[in-house]
Amino acid sequence: MINITNNKTVIPMLDVKAQHEPLKEEIKQALKDILDSGQFILGPNVRSFEQETASYLNVKNAAALASGTDALYLSLKALGIKEGDEVITTPFTFIATAEAITYVNATPVFVDIDRYTLNIDVSKIEEKITAKTRAVIIVHLFGQPADMDEIMDLARKYNLKVIEDCAQAFGARYKGKAAGCIGDAGCFSFYPSKNLGAYGDGGMMITDHNEVFEKVRLLRNHGTVAPYRHGFIGYNSRLDEIQAAILRIKLRHIDEYNRKRGNLARIYTSVLSGAVQCPVEMTDRSHVYHQYTIRTPLRDKVSAALKNSNISSVVYYPLPLHLQEAFHYLGYRKGDLPESEAAADEVLSIPIYPELEPDKAEMISEAILQAVRHGDAG
Ligand SMILES: *Cc1c(COP(=O)(O)O)cnc(C)c1O
Repeated sequence: MINITNNKTVIPMLDVKAQHEPLKEEIKQALKDILDSGQFILGPNVRSFEQETASYLNVKNAAALASGTDALYLSLKALGIKEGDEVITTPFTFIATAEAITYVNATPVFVDIDRYTLNIDVSKIEEKITAKTRAVIIVHLFGQPADMDEIMDLARKYNLKVIEDCAQAFGARYKGKAAGCIGDAGCFSFYPSKNLGAYGDGGMMITDHNEVFEKVRLLRNHGTVAPYRHGFIGYNSRLDEIQAAILRIKLRHIDEYNRKRGNLARIYTSVLSGAVQCPVEMTDRSHVYHQYTIRTPLRDKVSAALKNSNISSVVYYPLPLHLQEAFHYLGYRKGDLPESEAAADEVLSIPIYPELEPDKAEMISEAILQAVRHGDAG
């Protein structure tokens, strides 16, 4: 992906081809079986993938969908969020989290983040709750679950629905529970770069509530309650058989993928803590390191130095959502959410993916250390 090659080997942010290599014969066979069967939509692979994921995450229901964005959108819809409602979320995330809120004509209300975890600061949620607040979308940013106990307490107190945006947190755990199983609905993305990545777009909504599941299952397929009988207006948001078959194969490796990400994170943290702010791991939850994101006032110098050494790095996210032109109409100004704005100026995500060799991680760490020392000196 983010890999500019001009005869130099660049260490990319991720390497989807390397992940495919050991699986390719198995995937070829699965694709051949689907082509032979002629069944491409809502067939046995989608059903099995839903069951296998529900069982892996230990949740009652899973609905495979066309994307993570759709999972958020259809969850809001199924939970009854509508025009005039306010939905609290973080501004330090990918835009899809807040876009989904606007799709149901509700209003995103942004709450600032914690400086260390970069997840929503739960101590700042209550002051943003109004008579119109109906839900919160919690993002488990970069793979680490947010403070779900505190969030669920607030949700009970104010009667709010809780949607977990788990696009970056497949397989992460919070006090023994899988991320996505704690709120009313959990939303996953299988975009190729995610921890569990398809070979195209894909998503999923999980829930223990049977009625929410039933609603999303019908919404994804034109509200079809029986052949050519439509109970309400729905959408076309189905995962296809080919993606489901690939995801079933990859699901069997997700623990290994996440474990390898964790090993690389430990290498990075052991070399870099002290020089830059490293991801903070909370003791009661697991971090699946969708990204390994460092923080330093010397961010631009570090990223330039890495580029010079042919090492990729990306700023997730350079502009918080409340300052995006798309959300100008909400009326936020610079300075409104200072922690998110400061993070945007200082964060840098560095390569982390299961196929990255540990010695490369050591080399990358050394390059960062040098850049920080150099930057400090001048
Ligand atoms: C990737 C992502 C999404 C959107 O998922 P798609 O499958 O690309 O629609 C939503 N939220 C977050 C936090 C993401 O990282």
